[in-house]
Amino acid sequence: MTNDLHAGLLTLDSHVDIPWPEGPSPFEDGPRCVDLPKLRAGGIAAVCFAAYVPQGPRDEAGHAAAHQRACAMLDAIAAMAPADGSGGVLARTADEIEAAFTAGRTAIIPAIENGYALGRDLTTLDGFAARGVRYITLTHNGHNELSDAAIPRRDLEDVEAEHGGLSEFGRAAIGRMNELGILVDVSHASKDAMMQAASRSQTPVVATHSCIRALCDHRRNLDDEQLDILAATGGLAQITIVSSFLRKKARSADLSVADIADHVDYAVRRMGLAHVGIGTDFDGGGGVRGFMNAAQAGNLTAELARRGYGRAELAQIWGGNFLRVLRLAEQERRT
Ligand SMILES: [Zn+2]
Repeated sequence: MTNDLHAGLLTLDSHVDIPWPEGPSPFEDGPRCVDLPKLRAGGIAAVCFAAYVPQGPRDEAGHAAAHQRACAMLDAIAAMAPADGSGGVLARTADEIEAAFTAGRTAIIPAIENGYALGRDLTTLDGFAARGVRYITLTHNGHNELSDAAIPRRDLEDVEAEHGGLSEFGRAAIGRMNELGILVDVSHASKDAMMQAASRSQTPVVATHSCIRALCDHRRNLDDEQLDILAATGGLAQITIVSSFLRKKARSADLSVADIADHVDYAVRRMGLAHVGIGTDFDGGGGVRGFMNAAQAGNLTAELARRGYGRAELAQIWGGNFLRVLRLAEQERRT
């Protein structure tokens, strides 16, 4: 019964790191948490794959390298959707995600993790939009030209906050992202930066992979004030399954889908059902007992169903809410 329930849902995972191009083939069931066979086995319809750029030196060479790396990773993401139809489908819009689901194909949604990839050049955003990028995470660990991060990189900087939240360039980047239909991802941003982005952005901002600070006091998690502003502005808290964000100092073996569901429950009670989703951070640290890879996604649906979430509610959490926000961003496009 639960299997049927899960299989019928348009499930969207809002944050997965790409293991490619260096890693194993995404077309084969391999050692990674996410590949196309595991996505099919787990009934995951759509995935935002993040071209992840670690924070590095903020000079011309560093920024050029970051941009180059992001582009290479976006190429690798696009390569998961070959023209011969043997893999996934590159989905640039909410309609295309739904069409892929109807056709029984995996929707691949490109994203970038770390605005470092922009360097100091707003025109890079046009290139990223042309590649189908649908969100950019303002920072990773470490401040960049756009924003302060929740976790500074002590080897690169010694200040807790450099910009007092967003920089002037960060504010301009958000404006341009709004015009291009690229969502602003506030996971990893400092609280000040996140609150400023939520108020400033014309379209709702999303935390694509974060948990609840009231349940686990970690700097990467969202406190009640942050959840409230997300709800008030139409945004999303996409609960992630990284063990140290779910429970303090926990390891993945200590936790189960019940711990994920606790964070979902809290977010739903605080924000309302329309503002909650799932972003695993698979292949970037995500995974708990019973949900160690994409093939096991049905176990989370089963736990949520056991707690009383019905079909329509599960559909909202698993993908409907994210599609709604993508559509809002598409309507705001002005290019
Ligand atoms: Zn991350």
